[in-house]
Amino acid sequence: MVGFTTTIPLEVLIAAERRPVDLNNIFITDPDPQGLIEDAEVAGFPRNICGWIKGLYGVVRRHDIKEIVAVTEGDCSNTKALMEVLTLQGVTTVPFAYPFDRSAETLTHEIDKLARHFGVTLHQCEAARVRLERVRGKVHEIDRLNWQEDRVSGSESHTFQVCTSDMNGDVDAFEAEVDTFLAEAGRRQPLRQSLRLAYIGVPPIFADLYETLEGMGARVVFNETQRQFSMPYPVDSLVEQYRRYTYPYDIFTRLADIETEIARRRVDGVIHYVQAFCFRQIEDLIVRQRLKTPILTLEGDRPGLLDARTRIRLEGFIEMLKARKP
Ligand code: SF4
Repeated sequence: MVGFTTTIPLEVLIAAERRPVDLNNIFITDPDPQGLIEDAEVAGFPRNICGWIKGLYGVVRRHDIKEIVAVTEGDCSNTKALMEVLTLQGVTTVPFAYPFDRSAETLTHEIDKLARHFGVTLHQCEAARVRLERVRGKVHEIDRLNWQEDRVSGSESHTFQVCTSDMNGDVDAFEAEVDTFLAEAGRRQPLRQSLRLAYIGVPPIFADLYETLEGMGARVVFNETQRQFSMPYPVDSLVEQYRRYTYPYDIFTRLADIETEIARRRVDGVIHYVQAFCFRQIEDLIVRQRLKTPILTLEGDRPGLLDARTRIRLEGFIEMLKARKP
C-alpha cells in the first residue's frame, strides 16, 4: 500500500503493481474524520492548520501506512512539514514535484524519478495510462450524464471523479462499480432541479453540501477539481496528461478551464469553496475579478454537516439566482 497526499501520476503505482491510496479519500470517508484530526492535534499539530493536512496525518498513523508519495510542489506547502513529521516517525516519504512552469522536461524527469523509485520504466507507465484511460473515459461519461442529460446528481459525479485519483485502490473493482452505475443511471428519468451550479476549489470537507443544494432546487453540474482528478483532456502521453492537469499549476490555467465549462454547461452560479487556513483563499479575489457568473465563497473548516450560518448563506444565494433566472 502506498499513500499519497494529492493526485500523482497514478500510472507509476499501477505499473509497479502497488496498491494506491489517496489519503484524502480515506480521511473524508472515515466514519470518524474528526477523530483523525484530533489524533493530529494530540500529536502537536496546531489548531490553525488546515483540517485536511491533519486528517492525512491521522490516516497515515491509524492505518499504519509505511510509505507515502508527498507532493511538495504544486499542491500545498504544509505537505513539506507533514512529510518531515512522518519521516521522523519512520514513514518512507517519496517527494514528487509538479514544475510551476509546466516544463515538459522537468515533469518528465520527476515522473521518471518516481518510476525508478518504484522499479518501473516510463514505457510500463505509458501502458498503465492506456489501461486507466478506459476507466477514466467511463467516469467522463458519468460527468456527461450529470451536466448534459441531467441523469446524475452532483454528489454522484463528485464521488466517482474523486475516486479516480486512486481508483479506490483496485482498478478492476472500481471499473466494475462504474459499469454498474452507468447501466443504472442511463435508465433514469432526467432530474428536475432548475438551477445549475459550478463547484470550484478543493473538494468540500462538508458531508451534506450536494444534498442540501439539491433540496434547495439547485444541482452541481461542474465539479472543477474533481473533474481534473479524472484527467479530462484527450492526450497521447503521460507527460502531456500531467501538464494539462490544471490543479497543480497557476490559477489562470484553472480559470481558463472553469470559464470554458461554465459556458458549455450553462451554469447559473458558482460556489467557490475555500478551506480554512488554506493559502488558496487568497486566490478567491482573482476568481471574483475574473468570473462574470455570480459567486458565493464558502469556507469550511472541520468535517461534518453544514453549520446553520453556511446553510443560510446558501439559501440566500440560491434565492438570488432563482430571482435572476428568466
Ligand atoms: S486545503 Fe489548502 S491548506 Fe489544506 S491541504 Fe489543501 S492546499 Fe493545503
